[in-house]
Amino acid sequence: MKIGILSRNAKLYSTRRLIEAGRERDHEVHVIDPLRCYMKIVSHKPEIHYRGQVLEGFDAIIPRIGASVTFYGTAVLRQFEMMGVYPLNESVAITRSRDKLRAHQLLARRGIGMPVTGFAHSPDDTSDLLDLVGGDKTVIKLLEGTQGVGVVLAETRKAGESVIEAFRGLKAYFLVQEFIEEAKGADLRCFIVGDKVVAAMRRQAREGEFRSNIHRGGQAEKVRITPEERSTATRAARIMGLNVAGVDILRSNHGPVVMEVNSSPGLEGIESVTGRDVAGMIIGFIEKNQRAGRTKTRGQG
Ligand code: ADP
Ligand code: MG
Repeated sequence: MKIGILSRNAKLYSTRRLIEAGRERDHEVHVIDPLRCYMKIVSHKPEIHYRGQVLEGFDAIIPRIGASVTFYGTAVLRQFEMMGVYPLNESVAITRSRDKLRAHQLLARRGIGMPVTGFAHSPDDTSDLLDLVGGDKTVIKLLEGTQGVGVVLAETRKAGESVIEAFRGLKAYFLVQEFIEEAKGADLRCFIVGDKVVAAMRRQAREGEFRSNIHRGGQAEKVRITPEERSTATRAARIMGLNVAGVDILRSNHGPVVMEVNSSPGLEGIESVTGRDVAGMIIGFIEKNQRAGRTKTRGQG
């Protein structure tokens, strides 16, 4: 197969591993910078141009689109879909999961456990919003944050009001969430390929920190997850429509609650902690499922 990896940087661990795993299995693998793609949009023969050439003959695309280039990156992926190229994750599914609010609404609708979450526009409703989430302690998150930046623990109601006021002053969208204190700064990263959790790790925040992100000093270790956690993770990925996903779960008193479904989960942490060949499993999944023109949406919607 001829496989394209949509990635801005061929030197990143995840990109390198996917190139390696693809070539080991005798595929032709190319890294394509989505921001260098330009497109011809016509009804019969959509084209993608890249550094002066027309991109042709690709069987599958692996999107590794960073949060900062979601808009243009998903447009490029959609163009590949219109050309009939098989996407590992579809553009529509990526867009869905990148919008935290939309993702929460979709998961809630299908009965997935989540921290109680509130969202409001008007500053007049701050007090009500804190009431409906409940408890003194709340977690307040900027909608477009990643790697723990823009995620704040307000330990008192007063602090919650101040943070909300500050975010409003910056005209930033945010959500307010029940603080799952019993998780004790730990969460689970479940790595999904197809309809299975193929690897899982537990991340523990460093002393004095509630965010378990590795970028915030969290430590990861291998973990055995329960059947309930396993089915929650696979269902969450399926609801988003993602074939490959990193589902982040907190262990709460009322069972597993999903915090986030990542559409471009990193490979470095999960492969080094679990020793599993996740990149190889991703290529294996493409080998089994790739068909020309096979998407649920064909770039629609
Ligand atoms: P990001 O997209 O920036 O990683 P997350 O929503 O994943 O944002 O939050 C970052 C970290 O903060 C999580 O990995 C988790 O450790 C902690 N956290 C987030 N929400 C909650 C919550 N409601 N209760 C307890 N801890 C939380
Ligand atoms: Mg996270």
